[in-house]
Amino acid sequence: MSNKDININENNNIDKQIFKHTQQKCIICGENSYCTLNVHRIIPGKDSGTYTKYNCTNICSNCHAKVHNGEIVIDKYYNSTKGLLLRVIINGEEKFV
Ligand SMILES: [Zn+2]
Ligand SMILES: [Zn+2]
Repeated sequence: MSNKDININENNNIDKQIFKHTQQKCIICGENSYCTLNVHRIIPGKDSGTYTKYNCTNICSNCHAKVHNGEIVIDKYYNSTKGLLLRVIINGEEKFV
């Protein structure tokens, strides 16, 4: 797997509603109820993270709370032979989703 960095600022801002529709489910638990899905910014707004494709992911409100209290860490997207994968750490266990 190549760890080539992706320039997240190359992308235009996304439409959050369209993003939720196209991504369809929580990347952590697979929850697919549209109304519980949130768009999470990997680099948060306070660190000038924007709503661009590679800085956003779909996550349900339940997992979202865990991300913001540190139980789940969402690192960033990596280029792999399978395409772009997001590196996450859940209970200390690394996963690419
Ligand atoms: Zn979830
Ligand atoms: Zn968030």
